Amino acid sequence: MSNNVTRLRQPKPCPICNKQSVQVYHPFCSARCADVDLNRWLNGSYVVPGKPSEENGNEQHAYGEDEDDNI
Ligand SMILES: [Zn+2]
Repeated sequence: MSNNVTRLRQPKPCPICNKQSVQVYHPFCSARCADVDLNRWLNGSYVVPGKPSEENGNEQHAYGEDEDDNI
């Protein structure tokens, strides 16, 4: 079985924490890191000029889901 040489994708490190990435969460190592990256994108590219409701405390838990670990 040595003539079936398939080039596997070289495992790239997780762009967030540089750990070994997992295929399931490719290219990240975990769902957490994928989420972090997603949040980065959302915060970075979803810049809406003139937020409709900035002083509205309606979306308190829209962000910060990462740090709040209330049981
Ligand atoms: Zn990671």
